[in-house]
Amino acid sequence: MSLNIVQHATCTFCGCVCDDIELHADHERIVKTKHACSLGEAWFRNHTAERLYPDALIDGQPATTDAAIEAAAEFLYQAHMPLIYGLSNITCEAQREAVSLAELAGGVIDSHTSL
Ligand code: SF4
Repeated sequence: MSLNIVQHATCTFCGCVCDDIELHADHERIVKTKHACSLGEAWFRNHTAERLYPDALIDGQPATTDAAIEAAAEFLYQAHMPLIYGLSNITCEAQREAVSLAELAGGVIDSHTSL
């Protein structure tokens, strides 16, 4: 089986954003990394093109994205001070949206790095 090799891939796992990673992938899975630290290697190698999860969950049950957005909006509307949390594995654009959401909802924002 031939592998697809990607040069200069960017790792967004921890925030250092290393951009010199070399990835070797088959059709569904990254099978080898070069220049990534152990965290980055684990992050890349556990991402696949397989669909392992539904698009959304509500109370642990598969749901449509539209229904999940409605449910999330209702939770945010009912909350007194929602915490927008996580964000370590997302793009700058998504982080910007999360900050806007926290401001709009009157909430607070934090990342896993506070641990
Ligand atoms: S390779 Fe390691 S240090 Fe670089 S961004 Fe990924 S997790 Fe962070």
